[in-house]
Amino acid sequence: MTHPSTLATTPQVHIDSEVTRRIRQHARAHMATEVCGVLIGQLIDHTLHIHASIEAVNAAQAGTHVTFTQDAWEAIYKVKDDLYPDDRIVGWYHSHPGFGVFLSEQDLFIQQNFFSSPDQVAWVYDPHSDEEGCFGWVDGAIHRLPTLALLDHNGDGTQRTPKPQSSSLTDEPAQPNTTPRKLRRSLSIWLHWAGIAMTHLSVLILGFILCYLLFPQVVGVLADPVTNAPILQDGHPIYVKLQHRNAAPPPTAPTKPEATKPQP
Ligand SMILES: [Zn+2]
Repeated sequence: MTHPSTLATTPQVHIDSEVTRRIRQHARAHMATEVCGVLIGQLIDHTLHIHASIEAVNAAQAGTHVTFTQDAWEAIYKVKDDLYPDDRIVGWYHSHPGFGVFLSEQDLFIQQNFFSSPDQVAWVYDPHSDEEGCFGWVDGAIHRLPTLALLDHNGDGTQRTPKPQSSSLTDEPAQPNTTPRKLRRSLSIWLHWAGIAMTHLSVLILGFILCYLLFPQVVGVLADPVTNAPILQDGHPIYVKLQHRNAAPPPTAPTKPEATKPQP
């Protein structure tokens, strides 16, 4: 589109990110109708600096083409003189909701009649596709500019500091949401393993109790070494508690244990 010989005269545009954000915000609030406004800035060393915008609230929005009415201009100049007395109107912006970034015949008419200065540009934004473009005068004709510089004045960290209320707003709701979730998760894991441990421990204890009941201590019965008959005392055999199944009988006992008998 742009001939190489005209590149040297292509306007250099530096636009604040705050301006593009406000244009998008304005256009997205009217997704079915076009909106428009003017761009505020200065031309410094052949570079167009756009650092503000003014919405054309009274512009007629009937049909698909925006127009700047007399009332719209009066309102725009009032805001411009109040807020930006040292700046110029360096162009205009408008939205193309759903039909792309270009300049229509009506747009070219507006550019030629209201923004005919060589350093005045036209910013077009489509809120449906999120596409944006900037058109400027190159050797008497309007071209879409190939390079745009987006300036972020919050990015250098010296002019403005991060807003504390925004960080607290984003951090505070996040912590109560994530911390209990983490706590619940770790707690459920802990309860899971505690339950397994308790089950194993209770099985172990139950096993000990059953062993104690079903396999009582080994006892021996004193028997006569000659007749092998149990030695009775008051009509009952004499039970001798053994230290171990394979242990030798107590040395004081005259007889060895003959038989083992469970004792309930
Ligand atoms: Zn248009």
